[in-house]
This record gives sequence, C-alpha cells and structure tokens, in this order.
Amino acid sequence: MNEERHNGSAIAILTGRSIIGFASGNGNGTVFHGFDPQTGHACGPAFTSADAEDIDHAVGLAAIAAPKWAKVSGTARAEFLRAIASRLATIALPLIERAHLETALPEARLEGELARTCHQLRLFADAVQEGSWVMGRIDRGDPKRTPTAKPDVRSMLRPLGPVVVFGASNFPLAFSVAGGDSVSAWASGNPVIVKAHPAHPGTSELVGHAISECVHSYGLPEGLFSLLFDVGISVGQALVKHPLVKAVGFTGSHAGGRAVMDLAASRGEPIPVFAEMGSVNPVFILPRALEARGEQIVSGIYASFTLGAGQSCTKPGLVFIPEGNASENLMRHLEALVSAAAPFSLLTAGIRNAFTRACDDRRRRADLRTVIAERDDQSHDSLRVGAALLETDVKTFLSRPELSEEMFGPATLLVTHSDKAQLVEIASMLKGHLTATVHGTEQDFQEFVELIQILETKVGRLVFNGYPTGVEVCHAMVHGGPYPATSDGRSTSVGTQAIFRFSRPVCFQDCPDQLLPPELRNENSLGIWRMVDGAMTREAITRSH
Ligand code: NAP
Repeated sequence: MNEERHNGSAIAILTGRSIIGFASGNGNGTVFHGFDPQTGHACGPAFTSADAEDIDHAVGLAAIAAPKWAKVSGTARAEFLRAIASRLATIALPLIERAHLETALPEARLEGELARTCHQLRLFADAVQEGSWVMGRIDRGDPKRTPTAKPDVRSMLRPLGPVVVFGASNFPLAFSVAGGDSVSAWASGNPVIVKAHPAHPGTSELVGHAISECVHSYGLPEGLFSLLFDVGISVGQALVKHPLVKAVGFTGSHAGGRAVMDLAASRGEPIPVFAEMGSVNPVFILPRALEARGEQIVSGIYASFTLGAGQSCTKPGLVFIPEGNASENLMRHLEALVSAAAPFSLLTAGIRNAFTRACDDRRRRADLRTVIAERDDQSHDSLRVGAALLETDVKTFLSRPELSEEMFGPATLLVTHSDKAQLVEIASMLKGHLTATVHGTEQDFQEFVELIQILETKVGRLVFNGYPTGVEVCHAMVHGGPYPATSDGRSTSVGTQAIFRFSRPVCFQDCPDQLLPPELRNENSLGIWRMVDGAMTREAITRSH
C-alpha cells in the first residue's frame, strides 16, 4: 500500500477498491464516487463496486478463517480489537477530515464518535479477555443415580461463522466498518465481511486498511475481515444469500432492513438477521415536570432532535405534552428555536428527498401546525434543509397512523393531550421503539405508573428525565426494542451484550475433558465464572460429585 504524509499522519492513499482479505477487489464493477453533502459535489477517488468473484472470494476466505478464529483465545481476540483501536487513533486526523468531507457532520462530533468507536473496541476486548461472557454451564454427572445414570452435561456459547455487516450511513465510524456489529462479531469468534455504506466510502476504506493491517501484523487468518463496496443493493443481497454466510448485522431503514430479513428467511438455510431499523422515540412530559422546568426540558428536546441534523435512530421524534397555557408558551419557545436554526446538511440525496417529501406532505395538512425553517439555498444539489416542528392534538394523531412514522432529519412532532387516560391509550397503541423518555417529578411518576409499565413493553430503553440521543456504550446498555424498531427485540446492537447475537449455545454431553473447549474443562485455567450444578463459581472442579 502506498503511503503519504497527511496532517502529520501516514495514511493509505485511497484506492477505491474493495479489500478482500489481504488483496484488492477486481475493479470490474460499477464505478461511483463519494460526495460532499455541503456542496453536493463528488469527491475522489472513483470507487468500484465489488463483482461476483470478489463476493465469492471474500466469503470463501471468511469460511476458511471461521474455524481458526473460533479457536483463538479471548486474550488474542482482545489484542486484535485493541490494536484496531490504537490504529484508528493513529489515523484520527485524516480519518476525521475524510469523514467530515463525506458526511458534513461537525468535526467535534466525529472526534467524539471516533473516541466512542475506540472505547467500544476496548470494552469488548476487556469482555472477551475476561471470558465469562460465554456463559459456561456445567451439570456434573452422577453414575450412581437411579433409575438412570445422570450424564455430564456442559454448555457454552460458540460462534456462528461468517457475519455480513451493513455499515450505517449516519454513524460513519461507530456503526460502520469497525462499529458495534463488526466488533461484537469478532469478539464472539466470527469473521466479518462489511458491505460499506456508499455515503462514506473513503472513510470506510481508511478504516478498512487499518483493520487489514492489524489482521496481517498479528498473523491472523486472512479472511477475518473483508470490505466490499457497492453503490446499489446487489452486493448486499448476494452476500445475504451466500450459502457460507451465517448471520447478518444491519443498521438503516425499515425498508432495507425488512428486505434483508425476508431475503435471509427465504434462503434454503435461513440465517439470523439483527437489523436495527430506527424508531420515533416518544417523549412524555408529565404535568408537574412541565410546570417545574418546562423550558429546560423543551430546550433539551430541541438539542436532542437536531443533534447530527436529526439523523439518529434515537432522535426524539414525538413529544406528548399536556394542553394548557404552560405548554402553549413552551411550544412558542420551541418554535422560536426552530425558526432561528441555521440549515442542516443531510447525509445523502435519498435522506434529503425523504425528509423534504415528509415536510411537504405535513405542510399541506390542515390538521397540523407546521413551523419549518427556511433553507438558505435552493440549489438542486444541496442537501441542506431547515428544521421542522409539527404540532397537533391527540385526536388527530390517533386517527393518522402515518404521523407515527420516522422523519429522518431535524424534525419533531408535538402532540397535546388532555388527561392521563389519553396518554395511556396512546402508549398502548405504540409499536416497538428503541427508546421512550418520561419527564416527571416523583409525584408524576407515582401518578403515571401505568404509563411507565406499558412503555416498558414497547421499548428497549426507558429514559427518565433525560434525552434519548447519546447512547452510552457500556455493559448494561440495550439499544434494541420490539419490531419494527429491530428485527429481534431480544437483542441489543450497542454495549457488550451485543456479543450474544452472533453466538449460539453448544452442549457437550459426557465429553472427555481434553476434548472440551478450555472454558468448560475441569481445571478452569481461564478463571472464568461458570454455573456449576446451579451455582456461580470460578473454582476448578472434579468430574463428578
Ligand atoms: P438504507 O437505505 O436502509 O441503506 C442501508 C444499507 O443497506 C445500505 O448499504 C444500502 O445499500 C443497503 N440496502 C438498502 N436496501 C437494501 C435491500 N433491499 N437489499 C440489500 N441491501 C439494501 O439506509 P440509509 O441509506 O442509511 O438511509 C435511508 C433511510 O434509512 C433514512 O432516511 C432513515 O429513515 C433510515 N435510517 C435509519 C437509521 C437507524 O439508525 N435505524 C440509520 C440510517 C438510516 P445502498 O445504499 O448501496 O443502496
């Protein structure tokens, strides 16, 4: 790989080619460019979509790597993840510069996202090095049991095999090539093939080379990582259909996620798809909180729904507020903030089109009050839009299901309600969301306990007196939620519990000790927590009671 000095760091010159193990893609596919959302202009170099041979090559290498990587110790997997974090930190300047060029997200935000990406890699490294995540369970046998001898039964989580990851458009680092899906798949012992998002191909290639260098320099199996470019959906579809692929991680639209789910289910051998398809993230402002600190709450909501130009899966897109004078004043306060907001650059023409279509549709409705800030230029290429505030009442909201749909961009819908019964009715009708937020005082929470109980059944994360954006990467986080927020409400795509998605339990019955994985052997040389005969322990054991 050629290198040049750039902003003080040595970086790879972008090649525009897919990365297939340690080689480059063929370069025979469709050509496309990244582009600058601030100007709408293409930026170099030209990128070439992967072709059928590239896809087969990448998946074939991953299948060869799978059994080797599955046997690698947690310590060695941790070293690999930490090495990627260090490498990304080394190329931070050019990486952020390129990500800013391709997404128009502010550099400070991208710096935070890179720090989060590195933290995520290190957090998973710690978890796999400690090792107890495999959930080892041992029920020792009893040959003397009557009427039948009890077998020795041991189980733990094992990897699935090659995982395909669709990078997200809106988090070019933390949910992309070295993002949460890839990291959790590697951590649990699976090779990864990333289908790069075409909205940030240069950023993807820089991260891809950093990962590839780590695979190479640690002497790891070549097929542990590949990165495939495509400007359309054919590469992603071919990957999902490939018989050697065993699971999929996806972040994006409902339409895209649902298509991938259906494709995976229609295979001869259906495979799991963990799709995070976003949500509207309802916020409930309860009466006493509104009275006590309404202005502070709505200012926080404004900051949250415009963060990252509102292109966040946890954006608060729906706010329920009690009707009355206090809420009237707050709505005018929010209107003032929206009207004064500078235009926001969206990530892609597709996202801009969907957002402006939704705004135009809502502007035409007599039953909605709309405040939409002006954009500063009307050029066709511009991806800039004004923020939007929509207001209506519960009756209209309940009669128009389309108002519950996600508007991806800087917009939110305020709905006024008259009493607790209406709020409970709304909550009961909600579909699955990633989050719900409740602003209340202690007294509010006592009075609205039924609302909170209903919300728990609808979301992956309940936020109290806060804002849903800014998902903490930690052990207890749940970034998931019932369908349609995700394809599988039993999982999370953020936090170390994401590791469970790409593993499955395997049981060994009466297996000789030396044939067991180290995690299940009597001596427990790894010192991990295991459930032995129903009790958690880190002790070594003998074969039978
Ligand atoms: P998207 O259109 O769902 O695309 C995500 C990825 O999936 C891209 O790589 C895309 O490929 C691929 N893809 C889309 N449809 C596919 C299909 N039928 N078969 C195989 N692959 C498919 O998402 P996006 O481009 O990031 O943004 C579009 C909309 O998605 C937004 O307006 C927003 O509503 C939603 N979104 C949600 C989240 C979230 O956090 N849940 C994040 C981002 C976007 P190509 O781009 O090459 O076609």
